[in-house]
Amino acid sequence: MTHIITLTERAQATAKGFKKYPEHQQLVYGVESVVEAELPSPTVDLNGARSFISDLCLDLEVDVPSVERRKIDGRFVACASYRHYEITFRASTVSTLTLCHELSHLLVSQHAGHHKEWRNKFVDIARQAVSFEHGALLYNLYNRCGLSTAWK
Ligand SMILES: [Zn+2]
Repeated sequence: MTHIITLTERAQATAKGFKKYPEHQQLVYGVESVVEAELPSPTVDLNGARSFISDLCLDLEVDVPSVERRKIDGRFVACASYRHYEITFRASTVSTLTLCHELSHLLVSQHAGHHKEWRNKFVDIARQAVSFEHGALLYNLYNRCGLSTAWK
């Protein structure tokens, strides 16, 4: 495995590619793409995504959102809609880490954006539903990139 300092530098460099977003959001995207490159999470098709989300929500004891595949805005791979309580993705498959990202949006306040409340939820869910290593690497890289999280 690559050294954590190298991964941190890579996340910071990748973040610069998302310059139309606020700085913390650039870093969130940078960290996530480094985690996906270093520890690719399993990918699933629409039925697999529905089962993954439904199993995870039953474990978390939260309502199960609908999961759909359709053409979505611009460059996003997936998105979450509070209004429809729905996760949508674009391609024929989606990574389970991306599904955790979107579900985390639905489970925190709508105003949380990609701030601390959302990051904590994402780290927890990724650790629980993808692997301990995914949660640990997200947590570590957020902190090393100057984004605080609280480890429960
Ligand atoms: Zn997001």
